[in-house]
Amino acid sequence: MDFNDTPEEAAFRAEARAFLEKHLDSKGSKPLRQRIDGAEFMQRAKAWQALKADNRYAQITWPEAFGGRGGSAMQQVIWNQEEAKFDAPVGPFTVGLGMCIPTVIAFGSDAHKARYVNKALRGEEIWCQLFSEPAAGSDVAGVKTRAVRDGDHWVINGQKVWTSGAHYSDFGILLTRTDPKAPKHRGLTMFIVNMKQPGVEARPIHQASGGREFNEVYFSDVRIPDADRLGEVGAGWKVALVTLMNERLAVGGSPGPDWSEIMDYARSAGTLKDQAFREKLADWYVAAQGYNLTKFRTQTALSRGATPGPESSIGKIITANQLQDICNEAIEMQGHYGVMTDPERTASDGLFQQSFMWAAGLRIAGGTDEILKNIIAERVLGLPGDVRVDKDVAFEDLKQG
Ligand SMILES: Cc1cc2nc3c(=O)[nH]c(=O)nc-3n(C[C@H](O)[C@H](O)[C@H](O)COP(=O)(O)OP(=O)(O)OC[C@H]3O[C@@H](n4cnc5c(N)ncnc54)[C@H](O)[C@@H]3O)c2cc1C
Repeated sequence: MDFNDTPEEAAFRAEARAFLEKHLDSKGSKPLRQRIDGAEFMQRAKAWQALKADNRYAQITWPEAFGGRGGSAMQQVIWNQEEAKFDAPVGPFTVGLGMCIPTVIAFGSDAHKARYVNKALRGEEIWCQLFSEPAAGSDVAGVKTRAVRDGDHWVINGQKVWTSGAHYSDFGILLTRTDPKAPKHRGLTMFIVNMKQPGVEARPIHQASGGREFNEVYFSDVRIPDADRLGEVGAGWKVALVTLMNERLAVGGSPGPDWSEIMDYARSAGTLKDQAFREKLADWYVAAQGYNLTKFRTQTALSRGATPGPESSIGKIITANQLQDICNEAIEMQGHYGVMTDPERTASDGLFQQSFMWAAGLRIAGGTDEILKNIIAERVLGLPGDVRVDKDVAFEDLKQG
């Protein structure tokens, strides 16, 4: 492991930091996760994305032909780390640029690339990922949304759920079932869908935090031209795997308050002398240091041009669980006042309350704790795989419900 930047990485970090300092305010102690659904925020986010694209910071690893920098994965990590220190209006483009557009680049036609890539890179069009359904989340190959061929179009009917940003998205990538007679992984097909066309209805889900970041999405006789199919008919699972593999490099910023923030809070609240609390603090500190070293290992692999292995699944299990524990503890410390969420009236500007409500989602999004533990068990520790009873059975013959 090498904890230091190489001279080239240090030069890139300095260049990135100078650009960020010129255009953004430092994050300082601003605690709350940004709400990404307000019109003013969206305008700022689009302007920031266009500025990044003009200066080739928008997607650092993408080839220059697609508006990227042709840079390394390590440069992307450095950019993420530096941008996280500033009040950068990011969020609405993460799913599109991190997952959808790389899929369009991998499976789309030249016409698709010319039409969609640059507009997404500049933040002019926003994308969402329409995979999960009420009965298909961890087991996403179980999707039931039907696509039925009608001449040179497909007709879509069904429902998606938890679709981040669908209510403000222009396009989505949509996983559908085209052949219920095939085994579940073989009867799927992926499409590009225009989210603004008739028959597509995004209903925002109101969250306990007050935000509305994701949606139920209903498709009623939506027509998609066959030209907007990504990959072969029946090969949607292969396309979906590319989307899922492209999840952004998650080794950059921090998801919320950590051991040091609760220690500061406990000091101000006078609870640092509590022996039981100090033992918990020590556990959080040790786990955080262990995770930091794992991150350094991932970064060293990236820096040497290697691909990080399945051990990076450890990161989200540690950080999401720790975030939930730390926020829970801080809320408990606040006694009756802990139930208030208004940043104006709450200790630490509501940092612990808002992050507590976000932490549960973090433990589910992008793979639940259990699924990540399965990955670690099977692919890191070499333990036997999950039992699979559905592999060669027609989807329509599987027990549902
Ligand atoms: C913040 C957030 C944003 C999201 N954004 C999107 C999005 O933009 N697009 C999209 O398509 N989806 C999105 N999702 C959905 C997300 O992918 C799913 O919620 C996730 O995959 C889990 O699926 P599920 O909710 O159906 O739970 P289920 O899969 O039904 O799981 C229920 C429980 O069973 C456990 N479980 C399931 N299978 C196994 C197994 N094999 N072994 C052990 N335990 C198991 C799970 O760990 C969990 O505890 C988002 C979710 C969240 C929370």
